[in-house]
Amino acid sequence: MQVRSGLLRNQGQKIVFVPTMGDLHEGHLSLMRKGREQGDCLVVSIFVNPTQFAPGEDLDTYPRNLDRDLDLSKKEGVDIVFAPSENDLYPEGFQTYIELEKLPKHLCGISRPTFFRGVATVVTKLFNIVRPHVAIFGQKDYQQLTVIRRLVRDLNLAVEIVGGPIVREPDGLAMSSRNKYLTSGQRAYALSLYQSLVKAQALLKSGTREASKIIGNVSGLFLSQPETTIDYIAVCDPETLDDMEVIDRPALMALAVKVGSTRLIDNMILSP
Ligand code: AMP
Repeated sequence: MQVRSGLLRNQGQKIVFVPTMGDLHEGHLSLMRKGREQGDCLVVSIFVNPTQFAPGEDLDTYPRNLDRDLDLSKKEGVDIVFAPSENDLYPEGFQTYIELEKLPKHLCGISRPTFFRGVATVVTKLFNIVRPHVAIFGQKDYQQLTVIRRLVRDLNLAVEIVGGPIVREPDGLAMSSRNKYLTSGQRAYALSLYQSLVKAQALLKSGTREASKIIGNVSGLFLSQPETTIDYIAVCDPETLDDMEVIDRPALMALAVKVGSTRLIDNMILSP
């Protein structure tokens, strides 16, 4: 792949890259469509990255569907699908990781303390292999996008990072490969993530600006619901991810909630 990228670059082609863990859905496909517009050669990676899963998480059960993914990629006009093996990326003796100091201490990083180290490491490796001019990431994983933007700046990586909006099911549930884990009852409970964001925006519009009041109010949606536990609900600065007390400028509302054993995340920028 690295050699091929070198050749493409020498021919003056602009390489656009969409990294994924596969089991493609409309969220991924929207990033590919965005990517198609941004350059000449569209590369998609499919790799379930073991270093971003902690022991006991769903690495073994994570949905894998390579044949279907290849079909969908072809339909979207993807030029190259890069699907390395675990051994390709982490051969015996591997021991070098990328770690950010502050951003991973917020939101998902609190309950998943090694997650962003795994993400930052694999994304850096993929950038070095694919050598893209542009890479596209979904705002669904807002903290991940923030971490990658920071990483690119801090390490002077020569790649432009572009964010793509969250793609939702018709009822508002953010698309995710993990939605498959939900039973039909849990699927209905999962809707409260989106509903809580909509409610928060409505509270803000009607004059409630204190983050604690908004968080307290929307927490109620989850507390009364069976099989549901809140990991976090936060209102924070969209760049530093530091908590905000008063929403006097655009703020990120982000949440992670477990429905049954499935951990779901969602977010929205709240604007006063
Ligand atoms: P994943 O395969 O879950 O690691 O996701 C690969 C890329 O797709 C990441 O940049 C995600 O943020 C993005 N993505 C996942 N779900 C969605 C969605 N519902 N809308 C937009 N982008 C998404």
